[in-house]
Amino acid sequence: MDKSTMTRRQLMGAASAGALTMLAPGAIHASAAPAGRAGKLALQGGRRVRTKPWPSWPVWDKAAEKSVLSILRSGDWFRGRGETVSKFEAKYAELLGATRCTCTVNGTNALLTAMHGLDVGVGDEVIVSPYTFIATYNVIIGSTALPVFADTDPETFQLDPDTIEERITDRTRAIMPVHILGIPADMDKIMAIAKKHNLVVIEDACQAWLAEWRGKKCGTVGDLGCSSFQNSKHLPCGEGGAVVGSDEELMDRIHSYHNCGRRYGSVQGSSQYPIIGTNRRMTEYQAAILLNQVQRLEADTERRWKNARYLTSKIKDIPGIVPHKLYDGVTKAAYHLYPFRYKKEHFNNAPKARFLAALTAEGVPCMGGYGPQYRDGLIEVALNSKNFQRSFSKARLDRYREELHYPGNDQLCEEAVWLSQSLLLAKKRDMDDIANALLKIYENRDKLA
Ligand SMILES: *Cc1c(COP(=O)(O)O)cnc(C)c1O
Repeated sequence: MDKSTMTRRQLMGAASAGALTMLAPGAIHASAAPAGRAGKLALQGGRRVRTKPWPSWPVWDKAAEKSVLSILRSGDWFRGRGETVSKFEAKYAELLGATRCTCTVNGTNALLTAMHGLDVGVGDEVIVSPYTFIATYNVIIGSTALPVFADTDPETFQLDPDTIEERITDRTRAIMPVHILGIPADMDKIMAIAKKHNLVVIEDACQAWLAEWRGKKCGTVGDLGCSSFQNSKHLPCGEGGAVVGSDEELMDRIHSYHNCGRRYGSVQGSSQYPIIGTNRRMTEYQAAILLNQVQRLEADTERRWKNARYLTSKIKDIPGIVPHKLYDGVTKAAYHLYPFRYKKEHFNNAPKARFLAALTAEGVPCMGGYGPQYRDGLIEVALNSKNFQRSFSKARLDRYREELHYPGNDQLCEEAVWLSQSLLLAKKRDMDDIANALLKIYENRDKLA
């Protein structure tokens, strides 16, 4: 036995002995706390609460290997010579309850394709949440449209719908709600505002596979919805994306556009290329992996949804840990990330970074989430670019700069803590480890700062 194996074994033995002294699940109030739970923080050399590994991601099976290999051996690797991409498109549209789906090389390009399809671009303004992955910023800026941020509601982590209307101008063309972390945004209010002001709605559902708003899948409530199938996502194939919609002519144009502008469905003309196009086609390999991955998506989604609600019930009474809220219209959340807020005043004013380190040390990997990215310099680069200078007046850009203040979002960036989706794929009782780790840190808060 080599030294590293020995060390790991000894470590595991020590840690599981420690776990025996942990609080019985459910006993959350201090009055019920046995002495063991308040043991030294793992950060300070104490025993970890969680010693077992969490589920890894992604997972696949032999069947996926077989179908990828058979595509390789066929030599038909692009969708023009195979059926695999079309098959997956039909399957995904059906799963979401959309009429149509067009796959793309990735989620970023799905969003760009949706923008193009709805003719949102140069000189237009798009209302969007600042609390999102940078790709959402990039597609709007990359289309030479102005990303006009509404504020974030710290309680739900979503776009605050009550801050949208004040930001609408005569150039506003679209709202791009992001169901961030896989939690649905308030689509009732967003759709009502869009209707009132004649705006199109492109849902960035790139973290929200099978999440639901009033029983409708995220991505099918607005005019178009976009998904990502990147490696870390719940339906992964390395890189991949999709646009879903139910307007047949619009979806014909989207398909044609993503395939070099070739004739497709209602897109006809005397030329072989009746419209301006690009090439954002998914390969057959990507779709083969997706057809395999999609078989587990519903069961995984259900498990994350159940475990997330259970976890919320276990942590909601811990002082200084504020669970996220769901809007009334949420009938399912996908939980690409499980979020809560950390209130340092309940933890002896220990900075969030210290709390994250303590939780990670207890065997619960966690992250601090997005920062205020609109202050990172990217926006200034965009506004000063040739495209923006030509497409927007100086007065508009000056006013835009003055309005880059988002107190709700700033507060959320300060307080947010995320747990990865793969933790929610563990068993229900594993959620108790997360709750117990949080409680242990709370009880040791005097030693945290
Ligand atoms: C992942 C993601 C995207 C972009 O998807 P890619 O497939 O990585 O290009 C867009 N928006 C959000 C919110 C995402 O999480």
